[in-house]
Amino acid sequence: MRSILIKNAQLRDRKTPVDILIEQGKFSKIEPQLTATADEFIDAAGALVTPTFIDPHLHIDKAYTALSGRLSRRETLEESIEIMQEIKRNYTVDDVRQRAVRAIKDSVKYGVTKIRGDVDIDTIGGLTALEGCLQAREETRDIADVELVAFPQEGIFRDPGTEELMWQAMEMGADVVGGMPAAEWIMAEARRHVDLVFAIARKFDADIDMHIDQTKDPCAQSLEYSAWLSIKNGYQGRVTGGHCTSLAYQTDAHAHKVIELLKYANFNICINPQVLAIMGVDAEPRTRGLTRVRELVAAGVNVATAQDTICDGFHIFGTGDPLDYGMLMAYQAQYNSTEKVKIVYDMITENAARLMRIENYGISVGNPADFNIIYAPNEAEAFRTRPKRLVFKNGKLIARGEKRTELL
Ligand SMILES: [Zn+2]
Repeated sequence: MRSILIKNAQLRDRKTPVDILIEQGKFSKIEPQLTATADEFIDAAGALVTPTFIDPHLHIDKAYTALSGRLSRRETLEESIEIMQEIKRNYTVDDVRQRAVRAIKDSVKYGVTKIRGDVDIDTIGGLTALEGCLQAREETRDIADVELVAFPQEGIFRDPGTEELMWQAMEMGADVVGGMPAAEWIMAEARRHVDLVFAIARKFDADIDMHIDQTKDPCAQSLEYSAWLSIKNGYQGRVTGGHCTSLAYQTDAHAHKVIELLKYANFNICINPQVLAIMGVDAEPRTRGLTRVRELVAAGVNVATAQDTICDGFHIFGTGDPLDYGMLMAYQAQYNSTEKVKIVYDMITENAARLMRIENYGISVGNPADFNIIYAPNEAEAFRTRPKRLVFKNGKLIARGEKRTELL
């Protein structure tokens, strides 16, 4: 295996650049001035060298289903679900496999090598999407580590037959139990939904990652109930809530208590700003669906951010580039300083790693050499310019993203 010496690498936690030696696919030396010999030499010239990005929430089964157009009249979450229902009816294993492979490969080109992929499990598409995504995961194993979430998009009890499919999905090889309690008709059923998700997770010793309270309804309480169940089940650190919009609409007194509970439960929150910003949840005034990011961060809750969807029934845009959706997170949370923007960079790297409980992540001696050279001097410039980058996995160059514009 070829060794690589990278000179003048700007690490996030150092004031001045360092040299990095990679041997046998791992970081073997990190020092200010290295004189080691290596098979390959790269002068990073002060560019950022950071761990590869992690996308902890990406619907790889749905990706690119709207390439030929997305027709929408109401532009609401409910309508988006209906649009996808029509598309799902026509899924084939091979069609899902091809689109999922493309979503994974496109993400890798931007520097993502770890993905938590959501896969719809319901009576419309059955287990077709999961079969396609399992194949896609196998096909891309050399360039990406992909976890699959069994995600009951249509609800579990609202869509009779889904409960059985959820158990089957876990037997087939899904890694994480998903949930969508807000899809149930009444609050009591939403609670039963969360109970079942925990029961399945316990049976398979699997982590949990639910879409929770993606609504402006301040009465939605699945978030606090899930945090409470995390503690009751010894699942601290193993449960993630996606979106969690309703927290922003609850009274300060209640929201602050929930945030304390989330911290106590070591709960992870994943906020996906692109989809939230573009998908209306009701009438005017148009808010952007964002939960209380700044308060969660200030309280020490682990917050990550993700792409969520790429050009599908929910969202016509999306590239898979964490610098893209990260920048939108900075806009929405109003992080507008060199220091604050570092919080967003944590959300697409370290915080996402903690959410997925990835061990040996980061640029330290002995860790697998999974890293990006981002041709920008700091995090803020990385988001602003979304520059060219080199992507390495286990010490091997696997992708090169060029961004080139020329004035002639
Ligand atoms: Zn989602």
